[in-house]
Amino acid sequence: MNKYLEILQMFVSQDDLRPAITVPNKGEFFTSATDAHSIVYFKNELLPIDITFEDKGVKYPNVLQFVNQDDNINVLLSIEKINSVLSKCPLIEDFDEEEKEVTCDECNGSGEVIFTYEDSEYQDHELDGECPICNGDGKRVQNIQKPNGKMVKNDDYFLNIDESKFSIFLIERLLKVAEILNGEIVIVNRTQSNKPITFKVGEVKVMIMPIISDYDDSEYCLGNIA
Ligand SMILES: [Zn+2]
Repeated sequence: MNKYLEILQMFVSQDDLRPAITVPNKGEFFTSATDAHSIVYFKNELLPIDITFEDKGVKYPNVLQFVNQDDNINVLLSIEKINSVLSKCPLIEDFDEEEKEVTCDECNGSGEVIFTYEDSEYQDHELDGECPICNGDGKRVQNIQKPNGKMVKNDDYFLNIDESKFSIFLIERLLKVAEILNGEIVIVNRTQSNKPITFKVGEVKVMIMPIISDYDDSEYCLGNIA
């Protein structure tokens, strides 16, 4: 697979409720992909010329309007330092979501409930009928979280670039881009704190939104990477 296509696939949204951004988009000059937390983009020429992406039947948002496309800074990050800060992140158990059939607790599994009608004289009338919650099945499908034996980084933790907080997973994805392209990570656009930062790896730019929180979560800071 073309390594730029591989990178696009890493950035598309997994959210089926936002179908427009579950696929990359080829614009006039740039191809981009986003999951609403970060945006990756690069010149169309880096992809095979005949490439097309699935048409989801919904308009792709103009994501590049959110990116400061001009470089205003040039700060080389140390991949070693980023890895060392990330390695301090505590691990937690990972869960898989599983569907499990459970007894409907509205009807206790009978599939029937009693409907009550109050007439104009305030008299109640009762009637047995199909449980509207389980449609008479007596059972419901519930999503349950089941430990899958894996340990993953605790995403309550974050890392800093100056005053701004960044998701460990978004920074790990940036590291993956650097690994795929065998390139270095350079900050090329930064304005004030708590604003997006644009990184460049080779010919690829990645804009990452910071985490905005207005409570004191400094105990979850793993360290500064820039
Ligand atoms: Zn029921």
